[in-house]
Amino acid sequence: MFGRFFVPGPVEVHPDVLAAMTRPMLHHRGKEARDLYARVAPTLREVFGTSRPVRFLASSGTGAVEAGIRALPPGRVLALVNGAFGERMARIAETCHHEVDRIEAPLGRIVDPDAVAAKVRATPYVGVLAVHNETSTGALQPLLPLARAAGEVPLVVDSISGAAGAPIDLDANGIAYACTGSQKALALPPGLGFAAASERFLALARQSTERGFYLDLLAYERDTPPFTPALPLLYALDAQVARIAAEGLKARFARHRAMAGMTWDWAVRKGLGITAAEGCRSPTVTCFELPQPLTGPEFVERVRARGYVVGGGYGPLKERCFRIGHMGDQTEATVEGLLHACDDALSA
Ligand code: PLP
Repeated sequence: MFGRFFVPGPVEVHPDVLAAMTRPMLHHRGKEARDLYARVAPTLREVFGTSRPVRFLASSGTGAVEAGIRALPPGRVLALVNGAFGERMARIAETCHHEVDRIEAPLGRIVDPDAVAAKVRATPYVGVLAVHNETSTGALQPLLPLARAAGEVPLVVDSISGAAGAPIDLDANGIAYACTGSQKALALPPGLGFAAASERFLALARQSTERGFYLDLLAYERDTPPFTPALPLLYALDAQVARIAAEGLKARFARHRAMAGMTWDWAVRKGLGITAAEGCRSPTVTCFELPQPLTGPEFVERVRARGYVVGGGYGPLKERCFRIGHMGDQTEATVEGLLHACDDALSA
C-alpha cells in the first residue's frame, strides 16, 4: 500500500512508475530512445528552471555533484557548510585537487550570503559550492541571494533533495550548475543523476584539468548520452515526467509546502523541536528533536512497528532526532496517516 515510506530518500515510488521499468530494452541511440529523451526533456528543464538541456548520468546524485566540481578550473573554491552534505561537497573538491575554504553555519541554519559576498570579494575563487537543501538538518538555502553573492564566480549547487520539491530557477537566478538525484523529490528509484549547466560554465569547464572521463560534463554535450544509459530508470522517468506534468510543477511545489507545514504544526502540538530554524525550513525534509530520554533509533523502531518508515537523525543528530521525508509522490493524506502513527509512537 502506497504511503508508508517516509525516509528522506530513497522515497516511495508509485507502482505505475515501477511497472514502467519492465519494458524491453531498446537501442539507446535509435529513434525510440531519441523520442524518449525528447519526451522527458521539457519537464526536466522545468524542474531546473532552465532552457539549457538537462543531462542524465547513470550514477547516484553524488556522481552529478562530482561532475560539476570536476568541471571547475584549477584554483581555490569556497564551500558552504551547514551540515553533512555541505561538508561532503567540500571533501569532493579536495579530492579533485582544489584548495578549499569553508564558510560554516550551525546545524539547522543557512550560510549568510553577505558573508559569502565578503569572502568572494577578498579571494579569487574559481567556484562557490552550496547545498540547496541540507538533508541532514532540513534547512533550505535560498539560491538567489547566494548567486548574487557569488557574482561572477560560478555557483555549483547540490539540489539532490531540493529539485522537484522546491524551485531552482537556474537561468533566472544565474546559477552556473545544479544537479540532483532520481531518488528524492522526483520520486524515482535511485540510480540517475541529473545536471544542468549554463553555457558560460561549460565554456569555463574547458579549462579544467580534472574533468575525468565518465564524469566529464563536456562529454554529455551531445544529443544522445555518451555512455549506455540506465534504460529501466529512463523508462521510469518517462512515466514519472508525465505524472509530474499532469499535476503541474507549481502545484507540486505547493503540495510539498503543505506536507511540510503539516509536520511542523504537528511538532508544535507535540512539543518537539525542529532542527531547522524558522524561515529556512525545507519543503521536502524535516528533522525533529525528540524529548529525552526517547532516542532517535528507538522512535524509528516504534514507528516501524506501526507499519511506517521514517528516517533516523543524521551524523551528530542520530541519537536525539528523526527525520521525515515529505516529498515525491506523498500527499497530505499519506502524511496525515504517518503523523497518526508518530502520535502513537510518541505516547507509547
Ligand atoms: N547531497 C544531498 C543533499 C543528499 O541528500 C544526498 C543523499 O541523501 C547526497 C548528496 C548524496 O546523494 P547520493 O546518495 O544519491 O549520491
